[in-house]
Amino acid sequence: MRIARYAAPATTGGPAEVSFGVVEGAGNDPSSLEVAEVAGHPFAPLTFTGVRHPLSSVRLLAPVLPSKVVCIGKNYADHVVEMGGPVPQSPVVFLKPSTSVIGPGDPIVLPRNSSHVDHEAELGIVIGRLCREVPAAKALEVVLGYTCGNDVTARDHQQADGQWTRGKSHDSFCPLGPWVETDLDVSDVGVQCAVDGEVRQNGRTAQLIHDVPTIIEWVTAFMTLLPGDVILTGTPAGVGPLVPGNAVTVLVEGIGPLTNPVVRR
Ligand code: MG
Repeated sequence: MRIARYAAPATTGGPAEVSFGVVEGAGNDPSSLEVAEVAGHPFAPLTFTGVRHPLSSVRLLAPVLPSKVVCIGKNYADHVVEMGGPVPQSPVVFLKPSTSVIGPGDPIVLPRNSSHVDHEAELGIVIGRLCREVPAAKALEVVLGYTCGNDVTARDHQQADGQWTRGKSHDSFCPLGPWVETDLDVSDVGVQCAVDGEVRQNGRTAQLIHDVPTIIEWVTAFMTLLPGDVILTGTPAGVGPLVPGNAVTVLVEGIGPLTNPVVRR
C-alpha cells in the first residue's frame, strides 16, 4: 500500500486541504493513479472518507511530518572509501531538523554561502508508532513503511565545522517522498540517484553495513521515536555536487521516483 500526503483543491473554493490518502492503481504514472482520502492520519487502522482524486489533480507533499529525521552516516563501504577514513564499527548517527523536510517537486535551495552541495540518495524508514528500546528481532513491528530520501549536504560547511549540523540542516536539505510504501522487503532493493537523467549513485541495501533492524535497535536504545519520524539509512558511493538548474531524482526500487529541482537562494 502507498500512503501519500497531499494538498487538494477545496470543494468549497477555499484554500487547498491537506490530507493523507492511499494511492491506488498500477505503476507510477500519475495519470493512471487515484488517491483515496484517509480520515485523520495513517498511524492507526485506516478509515476512508469516500473522497477520491485523480493523483494528477493533487500536489504531493512530504509523506509525513517527522518530529526529527535521524540519519546514519557512512553505512555503505564504497561510500566510506570515497569519503576517506575507517569503516565505523557502530552506526554513526546524526540529525536533520524537521524544517529541512520538503516534498516531491519542491526546490532544493542552495545556500548563498556554500559552493559545494552534494546529493545523497537514501532509503528512508518511516516509523509507525511511538517506540523505545526495540530489539532488532521486533524492529519491523514499529515500521509503517519506507520512502525515498535525499540527505542533501553542504559538504564545505560539514568539513569546515568539524561536525555536521550546519552542513546537513539547511532548509530544503531533506526531500522525502513521493509516498510511503508499506509492503516492501528492503533487505535487498536498489538505491539510485540520477541528476538530469544521468545515474550518479547505484547501490543496493544488501550492501548496508548496518541493516534496517540493527539501525532501529541502535537508535531506539537512546532515543524515543514517534509516529512519522524518519530514519535515513546512509548513501552508496557516487555522491556529487548539485548546481542550479539540475533536477535530482532518488529512486528506491519499489518506491518513487522522488524528483526535486535545484535553485540558488
Ligand atoms: Mg547521508
